[in-house]
Amino acid sequence: MKTHFFLPLLLLISTAVDAQWSGNTTPTYPELIAYYQKLDREHAEIELYAMGKSDTDWPIYVCIINGAKDSIKTFEKAQNSTTILINNAIHPGEPDGVNACLIWIDNWIKNGKKTADLPVIAIIPAYNVGGMFNRSSNSRANQDGPEEYGFRGNSQNLDLNRDFIKMDSPNAFTFVTLYQALDPDVFVDNHVSNGADYQYTLTYIASMKERMAPSMRALTYDKCIPSLTSRLKKRKRDLFPYVELQEDIPDKGIIAFNDLPRYATGYSSLFHALSFTVETHMLKPFPERVEATRQFLDELILWSKECASDIELARKKAIDWSLEQQTFHYNYKRTEKADSILFKGYKAIYKTSPVTGLERLFYDRKQPFTKYVPHFQTHRSSDSVAIPKAYFVGGANTEVISRLKANGIEFSTVLHDSLISVITNKVLKYDSPKQPYEGHFLHGGTMIEKEENNMVIPAGTVMISTRQPKMNFVVSVLEPAAEDSYFSWNFFDSYLQQKEYFSAYVFEEKALEILEKDPQLAQDFYSKKRTDSEFANNAWDQLYFIYKRSIYYEKTTANRLPIYQIY
Ligand SMILES: [Zn+2]
Repeated sequence: MKTHFFLPLLLLISTAVDAQWSGNTTPTYPELIAYYQKLDREHAEIELYAMGKSDTDWPIYVCIINGAKDSIKTFEKAQNSTTILINNAIHPGEPDGVNACLIWIDNWIKNGKKTADLPVIAIIPAYNVGGMFNRSSNSRANQDGPEEYGFRGNSQNLDLNRDFIKMDSPNAFTFVTLYQALDPDVFVDNHVSNGADYQYTLTYIASMKERMAPSMRALTYDKCIPSLTSRLKKRKRDLFPYVELQEDIPDKGIIAFNDLPRYATGYSSLFHALSFTVETHMLKPFPERVEATRQFLDELILWSKECASDIELARKKAIDWSLEQQTFHYNYKRTEKADSILFKGYKAIYKTSPVTGLERLFYDRKQPFTKYVPHFQTHRSSDSVAIPKAYFVGGANTEVISRLKANGIEFSTVLHDSLISVITNKVLKYDSPKQPYEGHFLHGGTMIEKEENNMVIPAGTVMISTRQPKMNFVVSVLEPAAEDSYFSWNFFDSYLQQKEYFSAYVFEEKALEILEKDPQLAQDFYSKKRTDSEFANNAWDQLYFIYKRSIYYEKTTANRLPIYQIY
């Protein structure tokens, strides 16, 4: 009788630990941090650090498991051994990772499992702190739980998952500093999907193949993903690529996501980390999604432990490979080439909407199917540029330089004005949208004229060598026409404007003098007048033609970027 009574009670206590996080609720930021602080106090293997500013008065924290129990030594250990960084609540309406990490910790540590031989595990409890405080039950209209959750934008209304290069938020500065201090080998960013309905709870995005070093591509796609898939299968859990649609329904094809450096995994893969976005399905109940996220993290941690030496070798090879590269490719576009992939979906049917009276899409869960669908996962770059030995950036561009610094980029400063032959970058063309995107008018379609010129590089200019392990980052942000360059993100917009002009009535005499002294210019001028009637009838255009080719026109500023390359 006694045992009978006693056993169920024990079970009750041990499940009560998990039940706190496995229901349909997710903690507020103060609750979450209070719980991590308690873990830090009660468990020697858990360390909690306030890492820096967020978009609120609260700091962003990192919880480290298996550190060295000393702030400096812990980060040294992270740099020198296998480390996994897990980021949660970048979109606080998608808090599955928040709960999953708490349950993972409870399972391993509170239940007395030994974590000492696991990798160093760094968990950001919640990254978008402002968004965590902006709680409601309605901002994720289609999502099945939790009861209350945070908001996608931070308190600046920025989507932090577009902010890793431009770094408009204090959160991004803190993240980048933390990231560079840890140098994680494996990185996971936890999300919840939008979009089509299908059978899977657990989907993932791996970094785009073509932007990765061959060793990391092989490790990710040939080793890690197949292994995680079969490990999770043993837990009766399907793992499937994120269902991004080619057209309106999955049957017509699924596409691989182009994770540009502005996104969390695009950023981390610039530094050759094995990177995943976890996307659980919004239409599955919250506790089920949390469990799927926890299982993914659990298996990834165990896999990373077993494959620690493979990961280390692949990352080392990736850095060596990047240092050998002669060409930087950008503007990747998806090709029409499709493989096929076995997909567990629901039959899509179209019926009349009682709301609009028009045809609507409906996924019939009573008609599940398993069939092959096209998988578009090949990208090709449409532009490339030779990688220089080094870049120069004008010292006045402090916003750019502070971002290079935060990312741990090595650079030196030019001490004296120096006449050097460099490649200059003149902006010939760029397109910017009419509506801002994430607080910017992001440039695209940029065309740069590169020209060799003897330039006085002023003291204070910084020189950034591409012969450094972080060269991928350096080229991605400094090559002006690249999608996520600092030029694209508007850091050099002040150079896109001519500052000085002329007064036509005074310049008339000068113009005549210039033509007399420069026969070639005179020939070009008169021939244009003969062949271009519009030009011949526009006095200002004619004077500007001469002005632009004279010594009076500003040669180093208008549309010329304070970015130079040497080869
Ligand atoms: Zn998300």
